[in-house]
Amino acid sequence: MIARGGENVKCDWCGVGLEPGESWQLLQPARNLGASFCRLEHVVPWLIRKDDWHIRDRVEVPKSAGADCAETGVELGENAFYLVRNRAGMEIADGFASKDAVLAWAKAGGRWARD
Ligand SMILES: [Zn+2]
Repeated sequence: MIARGGENVKCDWCGVGLEPGESWQLLQPARNLGASFCRLEHVVPWLIRKDDWHIRDRVEVPKSAGADCAETGVELGENAFYLVRNRAGMEIADGFASKDAVLAWAKAGGRWARD
């Protein structure tokens, strides 16, 4: 299911209101799709059970994203997904070659679980 809007307003999994600049954004720039979350843990059940994206006006590849998949290490193609952590004016992005890669990475706790 795809709906328009919903950017940065509430968590797409639990519905809690999001503060401006304090959220997780899951993006697919090639299709202008996005979803918002209050915490990384809510990306996992959303991907498994809902997977309902919002069409946004313009979704761009995050500047802070690398060229390789954060989960599998393969080079990202044009259909890549990006998971962006916004916090206190900072943006930290990780790129993924597939939805499955996003799910595996989020289940494992994200980038901080592996440092
Ligand atoms: Zn939530």
